[in-house]
Amino acid sequence: MARRRKRRRLNVGRIVGLVVIIAVIVVGAFFITTRLGRTSYASVNKSMGEYMVKANDNLLGKGTDKEFKKSLYVPRKIDKTKKLIAFTFDDGPLKGNTERVIAALEKNDARATFFMLGQNANYYPETVKKVLESGNEVSSHTWNHTYLPKLSAAQVRAQEDKTANVIYKACGSKPVSVRPPYGAINENVKQGIDTALILWSVDTLDWKTKNTDATVKTILKHAKDGDIVLMHDIHKPTVAAVEKVLPILKKKGYEVCTVSELLEAKGVKVQKGDKVFSATDIIRK
Ligand SMILES: [Zn+2]
Repeated sequence: MARRRKRRRLNVGRIVGLVVIIAVIVVGAFFITTRLGRTSYASVNKSMGEYMVKANDNLLGKGTDKEFKKSLYVPRKIDKTKKLIAFTFDDGPLKGNTERVIAALEKNDARATFFMLGQNANYYPETVKKVLESGNEVSSHTWNHTYLPKLSAAQVRAQEDKTANVIYKACGSKPVSVRPPYGAINENVKQGIDTALILWSVDTLDWKTKNTDATVKTILKHAKDGDIVLMHDIHKPTVAAVEKVLPILKKKGYEVCTVSELLEAKGVKVQKGDKVFSATDIIRK
């Protein structure tokens, strides 16, 4: 009797062990296919202090779909008598941070332009969609933050096509404009990009200081009517700075808006190859 009971207990132990092993395999497979299988999470570009996601390039189709619809982005009608500042966020989207920026903008009746990397848009398509759906402007910052002047015009175009493709896949809309990384532009860049080249007039250097108060201070000290402010939504101190500075700017009578809203309200028309630093500082092609 005693021996039989022992054997039964052993069998139960074996079954429990087997269940645990199967559970480990299932959970492991789920983790690998949904997370690690897609990309090696993120890396930091030390030279710019920038944060980029290394996505799997093979996930993408090649070349631009010629039947691209135009951008679905519709700028708000802005009160032209108001002082306007365009906020711009480069190098994202980054899930979590970007959503916080969107919420802060919404809370303060503000909107902004997001110059996204194709790589990151590919990794966070839901965030791209949220940016557009919340009335913000989706634009391109190239596929992988390449220094464009070293490329041929065809290679520049390929970078933009790939980025436009992935943004289109994420939100059903084409990017409105392009900001070349580092603001680096030559003839090939002008030829390879079909929109105006949006630069900036106030550089917060948020990627360098990674300091909320320093970013807030720079904006309040330098930003004036017609300016375009450069920030990066991939850094948490920047997100906190946005949350802090928006109510202050509102109190000072500023309307924080997207680049398209700023240009439209100021009656400025831009075209392919124009370098746009602010509503009043534009170098025409
Ligand atoms: Zn950048």
